[in-house]
Amino acid sequence: MSDRYERVMAAMRRDVPDRVPWALWGHFPAVPFLKYYSWEKANRDGEESARAHMALLRSLDYKMDLLKVTPFYRFMACQWGSKFRWEDNDESPATMDVTVKTPGDWEKLWVLDPRKELREALRCVEILAKELYGMPFIYTIPSPIVQALHGVSEPERVYTDMVENPDALREGLETITQTTIDFAKEVMAEGATGVFFGIGGGGDIWSRMTREQLEEYALGYDKRVLEAVGDAPVKLLHICSAGGEDPQKDGGLMEEGWFKNYPVDAINWDDALFTPLEKAKEIYGDRFCIVGGVDRNRTLLEGTSRHVEAAVKDAIERAGRGGSFIVGPGCTLNAHTPLENYNAVARAVEKYGRYKA
Ligand SMILES: [Zn+2]
Repeated sequence: MSDRYERVMAAMRRDVPDRVPWALWGHFPAVPFLKYYSWEKANRDGEESARAHMALLRSLDYKMDLLKVTPFYRFMACQWGSKFRWEDNDESPATMDVTVKTPGDWEKLWVLDPRKELREALRCVEILAKELYGMPFIYTIPSPIVQALHGVSEPERVYTDMVENPDALREGLETITQTTIDFAKEVMAEGATGVFFGIGGGGDIWSRMTREQLEEYALGYDKRVLEAVGDAPVKLLHICSAGGEDPQKDGGLMEEGWFKNYPVDAINWDDALFTPLEKAKEIYGDRFCIVGGVDRNRTLLEGTSRHVEAAVKDAIERAGRGGSFIVGPGCTLNAHTPLENYNAVARAVEKYGRYKA
């Protein structure tokens, strides 16, 4: 196994690696500096997705320690019939039509066969496992409730059904969960190092769902998916606030330690928006490796490479002590993040991230 694998695994064990690992992720085919790759094509052609991720790695001046592979997160919804408008390689295609429009539509979903409907996503994993020569990589697995809310159906339908038609919604979530479990297991069988499990993306679940609803409809199904791949060496939980809100609102889930309920090895959230790194390390450090520290907008998108280096140095000072820390962004990078800022993260980690033996 590669040095990078050992380094990442030491962080996952909450141990001290030889230096702080780093990872940056985005919708890689939808990034202007990666010419010749199509985000639309990557959603239906596993090789296109794998090639775009490999092109990103080749574009860098340094070797990244952990690659997060990012499909269009509605890739399962597409197979159930939802339609999205792909335009100009834009990373966020608009929703044109969703499969579940009425409560009666939930029962029309079927469990997707990872070897049939989802084969292209698996082909991406298969190619990367062969071509990355032991470099660790994790594939993105979206939470079932997030898939239901944003892709299979729409927020108004799902929130209404939680109250008025919970059994119909549960039936739909059961199918989405089983599909996600079957797919995640195949991702591991094809040679991925682990999963990047995203919860919360694109919406307002943190304030809109009650504690009981979050426990049933988010955690309840999420846990089943994560337990099904319990042996995966890397299980990274991403607590998303891309929808504009965070889990510190209306209940303070993050700082209460609620995410310890998730059977994962590492957590990632937008520490520029809520819960600073050192605070999270204090709360979660005995359970999880901490992943984060660079502001994806103000620093990575808008800052100079000197700003980026200074931010990485600062993050390492705040969360690097004792190991068990990976430098990363709080969410997917903006497509226009300059390549030199990717390199600045790597350079800073080399300069400031060494642990003395
Ligand atoms: Zn996110």
